[in-house]
Amino acid sequence: MSEREQIPMDVVFVGAGPANLAAALHLKGEIKKHDEMVEKGFKSGKVIGDLEIAIVEKGPFVGAHILSGGVMDPIAIRELMPDFLAQGCPVDSVVTEDAFWYLTEKGGINAPLVPPPLKNKGKYIVSLSKVCEWLGEKCEAAGINIFPEFPAAEVLYNENDAVIGVRTGDKGIDKDGHRKPNFEPGVDLLAKVTVLGEGSRGSLAKQVTARLGLDEGKEPQVFSIGVKELWEVPAANFAEGKVVHTLGFPSDTRTYGGGWIYGMKDNVVSIGYVTGLDYEDPMIDPHAEFQKFKTNPKVAEVLKGGKMIKYGAKTINAGGYFTMPKLYADGVLIVGDSGSFLNGQRIKGIHTAMKSGMLAAETIVGAFEHQDFSSKTLKHYDEKVNLSWIYDELHPVRNFHAAFQKGRWSALLNTGLQFLTRGLAWGFMPKEHHIAGHERMGKLIDNGNWKIENGKRYADLKFDKELTFDKVTDVFHAGVAHDEDQPSHLHVLDTEICATRCAEEYGNPCQRFCPAAVYEMEENVESGRKELKVNFSNCVHCKTCDVADPYQIINWVTPEGGGGPNYKGM
Ligand SMILES: Cc1cc2nc3c(=O)[nH]c(=O)nc-3n(C[C@H](O)[C@H](O)[C@H](O)COP(=O)(O)OP(=O)(O)OC[C@H]3O[C@@H](n4cnc5c(N)ncnc54)[C@H](O)[C@@H]3O)c2cc1C
Repeated sequence: MSEREQIPMDVVFVGAGPANLAAALHLKGEIKKHDEMVEKGFKSGKVIGDLEIAIVEKGPFVGAHILSGGVMDPIAIRELMPDFLAQGCPVDSVVTEDAFWYLTEKGGINAPLVPPPLKNKGKYIVSLSKVCEWLGEKCEAAGINIFPEFPAAEVLYNENDAVIGVRTGDKGIDKDGHRKPNFEPGVDLLAKVTVLGEGSRGSLAKQVTARLGLDEGKEPQVFSIGVKELWEVPAANFAEGKVVHTLGFPSDTRTYGGGWIYGMKDNVVSIGYVTGLDYEDPMIDPHAEFQKFKTNPKVAEVLKGGKMIKYGAKTINAGGYFTMPKLYADGVLIVGDSGSFLNGQRIKGIHTAMKSGMLAAETIVGAFEHQDFSSKTLKHYDEKVNLSWIYDELHPVRNFHAAFQKGRWSALLNTGLQFLTRGLAWGFMPKEHHIAGHERMGKLIDNGNWKIENGKRYADLKFDKELTFDKVTDVFHAGVAHDEDQPSHLHVLDTEICATRCAEEYGNPCQRFCPAAVYEMEENVESGRKELKVNFSNCVHCKTCDVADPYQIINWVTPEGGGGPNYKGM
């Protein structure tokens, strides 16, 4: 007999990010509206009544694993809750000034014009972690069950491959796979509709996509990684409400990259650097790119005399409209970053994540009204997306990231042209095809048409622990904690490849692309060769390894609930 408890719910949301929190809250409101209309005779149909709604979150609290740069377009939250400010939404500052810097190694220029997609005046600078914590409280007050420390580890299907819920991860398994005295089996949360809002490279979204072929006929997803620090700086260094985006140094013209600096209140600055995980040079280290970015004199000036207070890193799904998977199947919907709703040109996904969640909620109301949870009803979600402002925003920029795969200059030309024609120009131009990042990484031995600066790329980079930090110091500031006596949640499917082919072909890029010093090649005295050591307890759950590994043999699965970074206030 199974010792697993089965808990019947109506709707289960996986992940307490902006997409699912907005979805759950909107669902509650829409059901109430629907029922009142039916009861008053303004609408035909049946009353839906109280639904059992659960949100499971792998972090120890809502917001713990939420990392964003922090400029929020309020369009979606205003639709969700028109009086969000009066209701206490913890926005940090209002954007008062935009700037665009083009950087070189030794300096840079303040561009006379800010590209329109990067204009943010009037929008809000937030700690998304705080906003999610607050939305979580709103959900609980509305009667939604939130289960922090509950990673959804597996998707449950019926005999027809319809999704019927999720299994949460077991607790209390030791590193050799044996049960510890505190063992608690995961539970099966059964649901009529399961909504996957796990953010970029969701581990369940990955499972479902593969099993149900949701990416058939779609472009492969491409990702970037954002590496971020929060700094306290002297008051005169950078104004609250100022937003700077940068292009140029330290990225080379064949590598997608750019930085941001956002001025928050109390002299706190959000600073970070995005590197496309479709880079060609296997020697690239996104964490080192960010540290180099801070050494540019214009950037260093902002941080001068300041102190780094927090660190984090996370992947960003950058592919946009053409890389969206099929967003529905029997019993399941995909929202937010897991569904590729981010606008890569604006590097903004908070508003589209929330709106996608709200459209999913409206679809779920229809499903309960008709008591049909199959694709037949859930496909309306896809239609709603394509009829909403999400389509109007994402479709014109559908080729943005793919164009960068041909290099910075052609991409900028391309982007300018599409901006002037609202994407129409792309109707007359050949479609840009995204190539998955892991397929673009060049081999050391090829030395193809790109310049490998083997080992020299970061030759001048020193970690002085004032302006620049090594990964281990940074990881300390991410507040990462995992119980070390548990199986590694980073499954490397064939470590022999690491010691042989990967060492020779790519120089073990996992040691560089991981921003948390998880992967190390360590000398094995017995075998006389370097072998892979996985320091999984450092993992910040960014998913870069799952995305960037050129052999695709790293599988990120959820660790025991509660483990991971602590991004409170990030
Ligand atoms: C560095 C960086 C900078 C950015 N800057 C901006 C910006 O300035 N403005 C903007 O609009 N957007 C920005 N974005 C994008 C924005 O943060 C995302 O688009 C948005 O957070 C997506 O929301 P989401 O709900 O889909 O996922 P997320 O915010 O990623 O939330 C997903 C949640 O699900 C949980 N979870 C995942 N898997 C499981 C599981 N199996 N079981 C249980 N829980 C799970 C996670 O712990 C997390 O709490 C940035 C992103 C990054 C990484």
